[in-house]
Amino acid sequence: MEGVELYRQLLGLRAPWTVERVELDMAKQHVEVHVGHPAGQRFACPECGRELGVYDHLAERTWRHLDSCQFLTYLHARAPRVSCPEHGVHQVRLPWAQAGSRFTNLFEALAIDMLLAANVKKAAAILRITWDEAWHLMERAVLRGRAAKTDELPRQIGVDEKAIAKGQRYMTLVCDLEESTVEYIGEDRKETSLAAYFEAFPQKRREQIEAISLDMWPAYINACRNTVPGAQSKMVFDRFHIMRHVIDAVDKVRKQEHKALMAAGDSTLANSKYLWLTNPANMTDKARARFDELKVAQLKTGRAWALKEALRQLWNYTSARWATKFWKRWYFWATHSRLAPMIAAAKLIARHLPNVLTYFAHRVTNAVAEGLNSKIATVQKRACGYRNPDHFKIAVYFHCGGLNLFPAALTHMKVG
Ligand SMILES: [Zn+2]
Repeated sequence: MEGVELYRQLLGLRAPWTVERVELDMAKQHVEVHVGHPAGQRFACPECGRELGVYDHLAERTWRHLDSCQFLTYLHARAPRVSCPEHGVHQVRLPWAQAGSRFTNLFEALAIDMLLAANVKKAAAILRITWDEAWHLMERAVLRGRAAKTDELPRQIGVDEKAIAKGQRYMTLVCDLEESTVEYIGEDRKETSLAAYFEAFPQKRREQIEAISLDMWPAYINACRNTVPGAQSKMVFDRFHIMRHVIDAVDKVRKQEHKALMAAGDSTLANSKYLWLTNPANMTDKARARFDELKVAQLKTGRAWALKEALRQLWNYTSARWATKFWKRWYFWATHSRLAPMIAAAKLIARHLPNVLTYFAHRVTNAVAEGLNSKIATVQKRACGYRNPDHFKIAVYFHCGGLNLFPAALTHMKVG
């Protein structure tokens, strides 16, 4: 039958494996492809590769393969076992599927492409498999990809926290800033959440880390200090996180001032929250007109805003020396502003200044991690929040881990 040869080719089967027969079930719309090997065939021990005669065959198993013209296609075979004098009785490697998988490699590859493009529910529907099967496929792709990863530590690392399940739980994300990939996801945002990542690498490797971008968060700072040699000169407090502390301070000033004004019947600051947070370049004409008025209205919020805007300049300097001069002026201005939240923010930064200025040696920011964060937000949204932290981790590694997700065997079994 010609179909036999066609299916041998479609399955990418090589000697000794051949297609023995193909059955078409019109009622069920199934194609059943039976695969076998010649009698007397020898197979390699999966542990040592020694060629051995067949010891016995396992019961017939079925693997889902790529559809043939909308017909669900299944491969049937009985896997041979060999008895190695050294390693005992083992099932031989089957060229069309990964150990333990119920799908052929080609089907898994298609499923991975689908899962990368659509959410699990949609991909499962297109592939005509269950949600659990799709999820399991994704999980196995991640485990495979992570197992195949080299044990190199990134040179530039970004550390960030991520709230999941509506802020009830936190995860610690470690990113490779050069590759824009999520390298590690730790439970919680404690010292151990981050230290566990570094501790998995030998001391020698950890020494090779050049820079770590992070927030001024004591748990993470301690984790770096206690596990990364020379951490003091490698930690860089991320400029975007620093600015966020200052932006929060501006917002506190606005709230306090608005409350005081309202008590006196003045609604100048009503509904102005986002004006102080938005880049004027992105405002509508109407919003900008109002903002221009507010800015010159002798408000405390206006002064806080001007302080915040001025601080951005810090990272434009090319040397730590000039940046330090600028910092001293800004710090004087901020601490003499009589705006308590701004004074607190200035003092917070001052306490961490040495590792703010390491920026001028390493020039790293969490901007990459922030980009990944929005990708992660999409992943979360697709899965309606991932209440289960293990599911969240698998999905993030799948979409943001930069892993080779595809079955390795595919590279040796090109169709045709
Ligand atoms: Zn062996």
